[in-house]
Formats: sequence, structure tokens, C-alpha cells
Amino acid sequence: MLPVVVVHGGAGHIPKERAELSTIGVKEAARTGYVILQKGGSAMDAVVEAVTLMENNPRFNAGRGSVLNVKGEVEMDALVMDGRTLASGAVSAVRRVANPVQLARLVMEKTNHLCLTAEGASKFARSMGVPEVPEESLITDYAKMRWKKNLGPDANPVECQMGKMGTVGAVAVDIDGNIACATSTGGMINKMEGRVGDTPCVGCGGYADNKIGAVSPTGHGEAIMKVTLSRLILFHMEQGMEDPRGGK
Ligand code: ASP
Repeated sequence: MLPVVVVHGGAGHIPKERAELSTIGVKEAARTGYVILQKGGSAMDAVVEAVTLMENNPRFNAGRGSVLNVKGEVEMDALVMDGRTLASGAVSAVRRVANPVQLARLVMEKTNHLCLTAEGASKFARSMGVPEVPEESLITDYAKMRWKKNLGPDANPVECQMGKMGTVGAVAVDIDGNIACATSTGGMINKMEGRVGDTPCVGCGGYADNKIGAVSPTGHGEAIMKVTLSRLILFHMEQGMEDPRGGK
């Protein structure tokens, strides 16, 4: 089967001065995923690697570059799902980890659970030999500036989030026809401490099923969760709904 990888770097309008580097970032991620698929790698390898690259890129709201919570700290969410088996793994509100998407994969592969959260996720990371990184290494000047700007009473976190940067994600089909998705985020800017968005919730922040397809969404997590958006999209695809622009 012809391999395919599709990546995204978040919803909304990106300011002109950041657009070029963001575009380069998503292209690099897509290329990296595609090379893995061309060499016969799995869809899971491709999406995790593509998302890892974007987590390492400070242009995106995931890993390094994550938006800050109301206390000025980084708490991240990530999810992976394997369309062959419907197995998934996730972490929520995790701190001091460079690549939450890789930790989500470890949750899927090495535990009997689907999601580990906060300190429990960090403990699991340590037990797997995942290095703990200083929180400062995940925080960019841009994230700090936006955090300060949005502390006031008139701040609108939804508008602010959508306007500037976003979550990252990828879906892929490998040469064996297997499908996978991965999503990773710092969440919503100035979110409450402990807030968990759509990203680590299976069916909301992603879904992959070999029989139908895969989704990795971005947008206001609380709205996405209302309708379990990823599974809903696949439900409509399953029912034969056509893309209004002409595709399937
Ligand atoms: N969906 C993410 C969240 O609510 C944010 C985003 O996609 O930008 O955590």
C-alpha cells in the first residue's frame, strides 16, 4: 500500500513573523514520518517520530514551546493510538519530560493502563529511564511573554490560543495498511493547574482504526470533548459521509 503521513501544527492563524518557521517545522515533521514509512517502518513509528520533531521545535505548543498554565508552569498532554489493535496510550498534565508522545507510547506498550497523569506519569517516566528535563528547558521567551500578557482580567484564553500557536499531531498509513495517530500539546494558555484537555482522552484527542481511518484534532479541548470529536469524525466516515470539497 502507498504510505501516507499527514501532520498538523495547530489550529488558527499564525502571525506572519512566525509563519515561515512553523511551515518549515511541519514540513520537516511530515518528511521525517514519510521517510520512516518508505523504509517499511510502522505507522506508529512514523507518527511518534513526526510529533517528537514538533515537540522539540519551540514554534509549537507541545514539548519545548508549550503554553504555560496560570502559575507559569508547563503541564503537557499526549496520546497515541494504534489502528491495528485499537490499543492506545496517553499521559496528562505531565511535567519535566521532553517528549510526552514517547511517554504515551510507553504507557501503551509497557503498562496495562491507557493513561497516566501528573506525578504518576513522571514516576513511570523515571522507571522507564526517560530523562527528567529542567522545566526551564521547556519554557520559551515567547511562551513567557504570552503568559504575562494574558494574566489580566480581560484575557480570553480561547481566542488567544487559537490566534497564535497550536497543538501538534500526525496520522499515518504504512505499507502494510496499518494506521496510527499521535497528538501532543501544552494545552490552553493560562489554563488552571491540573486541567486536562481533549488530547489524552481517546476518541477526543485522537482515534485510529484500520477499518476506517485516523484523526488528530486541534482546537478548544473543552469543545472537542463535548462531542468526542475524533471518534465522531470516524463514525461519519464509517457511515460513508463524503468530504464536502469532493474527496472521500
Ligand atoms: N486541544 C488542545 C487543548 O485543548 C489545544 C489546541 O489544540 O491548541 O488542550
